[in-house]
Amino acid sequence: MGKSLYQKVFEQHTVRELPSGQCQLLIGLHLVHEVTSPQAFAMLRERGLRVLHPERTFATCDHIIPTKSQLRPFADSMAEQMLVELERNCEQYGIRYLSPQQGEQGIVHVIGPELGLTQPGMTIACGDSHTSTHGAFGAIALGIGTSQVRDVLATQTLAMDKLKVRRIEVDGELRPGVYAKDVILYIINRLGVQGGVGYAYEYAGSVFDRFSMEERMTVCNMSIEGGARCGYVNPDRTTYEYLRGREFTPQGGAFERALAYWDSTRSDPDARYDDVVRMAAADIEPVVTWGITPAQSTPVSGTIPETSVFPADERGLIEEAYRYMGFEPGTRIAGKKVDVAFIGSCTNGRFSDFEEVVQHLRRSGRRVKPGVRALVVPGSQQVRKRLIEAGYDKVFEQAGFEFREAGCSMCLAMNPDQLVGRELCASSSNRNFKGRQGSPTGRTLLMSPVMVAAAAVSGEVADAREVFSIA
Ligand code: SF4
Repeated sequence: MGKSLYQKVFEQHTVRELPSGQCQLLIGLHLVHEVTSPQAFAMLRERGLRVLHPERTFATCDHIIPTKSQLRPFADSMAEQMLVELERNCEQYGIRYLSPQQGEQGIVHVIGPELGLTQPGMTIACGDSHTSTHGAFGAIALGIGTSQVRDVLATQTLAMDKLKVRRIEVDGELRPGVYAKDVILYIINRLGVQGGVGYAYEYAGSVFDRFSMEERMTVCNMSIEGGARCGYVNPDRTTYEYLRGREFTPQGGAFERALAYWDSTRSDPDARYDDVVRMAAADIEPVVTWGITPAQSTPVSGTIPETSVFPADERGLIEEAYRYMGFEPGTRIAGKKVDVAFIGSCTNGRFSDFEEVVQHLRRSGRRVKPGVRALVVPGSQQVRKRLIEAGYDKVFEQAGFEFREAGCSMCLAMNPDQLVGRELCASSSNRNFKGRQGSPTGRTLLMSPVMVAAAAVSGEVADAREVFSIA
């Protein structure tokens, strides 16, 4: 019986079985950022421990960094203090800090792949839920808590339960105007936010085979929103071509040797899965969330569902969502007025996300509707640089968007980019939880970047296929 990539990589990295029944897993790459690391470093200091493998540990700042200007010191003294602490910890423990000064800063899940740090067959850990993003390369990538960040810093290992594996196959052709974001929102809608608990998700089928690495990252990023501990796509030629020549990718003969290993980690054709789910690409439309979890969504042509279509044990949460969002069941999602439009985040803050929007803005000549605040926030300084080199910053600005510096920005609003009051935001990010975007009463609608742009120029939720004549 063959093995899945998850089984192979997990077994290769298992140091030993612990008395608890968990496995001690060797971590190949540890990514660190300013929010979840200070306490972990403090715990190391208290115990007089060192970082065991500083050469396998990389840090950057993303959550708290302002996007209007990155000039130091930041106006927010707490943000400034967090960054000073990160810089001090990196210096003391010999960790490479991917800094704004060097032009290497960005959202941790954007820069890992961008620099070639993320590679197939790796185990990757980071003190951030959306570490699952890196699974796009065929890595087992795990979001961890602060005490686990401490454990990985001190031992380069993590205590982990072995997961079950669910293979999710999406086959066929996506219709024009349907993007990777729609695919993952559709999957989460079908399987639920708890559906993946205890599982790793393996994404397979012709849709994922054809996807670019950036599209695969969008999908894997939101695995955690479907309850899965991680998600991955088997590495293939697309993966290898993306990685070739990047700063931390093996070069020359070492690349060929790495390629042989990467190939060997692919799931075997006769691999056994704990579950297999099949979906048809043709069934997927542009998706918009209407509620307070990423599963509470509808096709843009649809209506906010009635309570009666949900199982009894979900109805309390559904009614809470209607109340919080101020939406009536049975009403159309299209036409809901938006106050803010945000394009960015580790889900959709990569070059191709912005490039796709630029093509539609250019072709249509549409501008942001007066009264809508529209933000474009690149996921990294490198993405920002490429956008400027392509002249896309000007396209966005001429269309009425604010073109900002790199960071997490309004995805979590730990910086000044926040909703005000009950503002409704069309957002390309990954979470629509209550208060997620900085205002305790602010409301978030998740959708693809092109759908966000359509909402920005229409002033309301709109079908991007109609707004931009996508056929
Ligand atoms: S962009 Fe959002 S989800 Fe991604 S790392 Fe930053 S805060 Fe977390």
